[in-house]
Amino acid sequence: MKIKRHRRVKKALNFYKNNFNFRTPYQVLVDSTFCHEALKCKLNIMEQMPKYLEDPNVRLYTTPCVIMETEGLGPKAYGAMRVVKQFKVRKCGHEKNSTISAEECILSMVKDSNPEHLMVATTDPQLSSKIRTLNFRYMRMWY
Ligand SMILES: [Zn+2]
Repeated sequence: MKIKRHRRVKKALNFYKNNFNFRTPYQVLVDSTFCHEALKCKLNIMEQMPKYLEDPNVRLYTTPCVIMETEGLGPKAYGAMRVVKQFKVRKCGHEKNSTISAEECILSMVKDSNPEHLMVATTDPQLSSKIRTLNFRYMRMWY
């Protein structure tokens, strides 16, 4: 099971490397849903992500908006909050005025063909599907 998943990751990574110029060190934006899920599975993101992506120098980021939203969730998100705070904060620009929802923030960072080549780690189905739509548009520009 684990090996199968690993192969799929490798295939996806190769696709992004070949088509979208993703290069190591990879940069991954992590949201609180991913942290929450990782906690539930007792998975240490800092330890596992480099193995998973086969990139010892992978850079893990979160954004001020993700932090604010997670903080706003109160006690039930304390665990996720602790995990989120392990990552470097990547300025998204929203913090200058007022932070926006984590979903909107992450989408804003990967839109317009994702110029910074950010990967997104989320388990939110709505966000995932919106990112896929963005990628689809991007692909259509290429082919
Ligand atoms: Zn933001």
